[in-house]
Amino acid sequence: MSRRFAAFVAAGTALAVLVIGSLIAIALGQAQPPKPAVASTSSSATPSATPTKTPNVNAPTTAKRPVPNPTAAFAASNKKVLFFSFDDGPDPVWTPKILQVLAKHGAHATFFELGGMQAAHPGLRDQVLAAGNTIGSHSITHPQLTALSAAKRHHEIFDGPRSTCFRPPYGATNAKVRADIKAAGMVQVLWDVDPRDWSRPGTQAIVQNILTNAHPRSIILLHDGGGDRSQTVAALDKVLPLLKAQGYSFPAMDC
Ligand SMILES: [Zn+2]
Repeated sequence: MSRRFAAFVAAGTALAVLVIGSLIAIALGQAQPPKPAVASTSSSATPSATPTKTPNVNAPTTAKRPVPNPTAAFAASNKKVLFFSFDDGPDPVWTPKILQVLAKHGAHATFFELGGMQAAHPGLRDQVLAAGNTIGSHSITHPQLTALSAAKRHHEIFDGPRSTCFRPPYGATNAKVRADIKAAGMVQVLWDVDPRDWSRPGTQAIVQNILTNAHPRSIILLHDGGGDRSQTVAALDKVLPLLKAQGYSFPAMDC
């Protein structure tokens, strides 16, 4: 009995020594001074571009199916690009007019479409794609996803327009919405410039807002559905040549 107890104590002591030893080793490892700055100086010229340029070979293995960043292909180049995006269509009146203006100026865009609008207006989706544009999902019925039950949220995200890009209606998002978007094989795409064209502030106000706020690689939010978009069409026709004169080109996002 006492020998067995002694063996038990001995084993316990050995384990404790092992654990403490490991902790000391970890602590020492963390206390080591940072590596010499040789590696970082070579990339110091373009610090912000480095993380997106090279795929991280040390990325955790938990990442399942990497969805491409829809603007990453343009991050490496020095080209001045702007990403125009149009939400809430396809609309039989306004989407063809937007397509016409884009084609007139040699521009492309990404259309975040509603599944309900696609079903109601078959053929428009193909017109958008045939002109060299891309399509993102904007859900099926344009609900505020953060206010829905899990089942309804899943349905709106998983059963909407097929794409690798998803823009939540109203930009309303949270951890659950983002998790569903990722699980559906998509990436969340919001925007950088919002001229609030849906509120019809006047053609010139839309133009001025874009000119003031657009920077290289900005994503610009406009609408080809949801009501009278004549100001949007007119503003697009005015602003594209002005931006082109500044050296911008207008590719569609990789969606
Ligand atoms: Zn919308």
